[in-house]
Amino acid sequence: METQGIRRVTCARCRLYDRLARRCTIGKVNPRTKLDTYETARLLGVRALCAFNLYREKMLDPVCK
Ligand code: SF4
Repeated sequence: METQGIRRVTCARCRLYDRLARRCTIGKVNPRTKLDTYETARLLGVRALCAFNLYREKMLDPVCK
């Protein structure tokens, strides 16, 4: 049976990351921790978060608000 675990995609392993410019080519951010994710969303808005971020979906869930 295959494992259904969530696989984390970090910027360093992402094909959208520009290593020379040291930034995301689509202008998103992917904080590593839940606290940093909440703080980023508070300052920049949820739309600034990358789709690969582990906590983004939970923040978009209206039940959590
Ligand atoms: S923010 Fe997201 S899309 Fe951008 S480089 Fe990092 S992981 Fe990739």
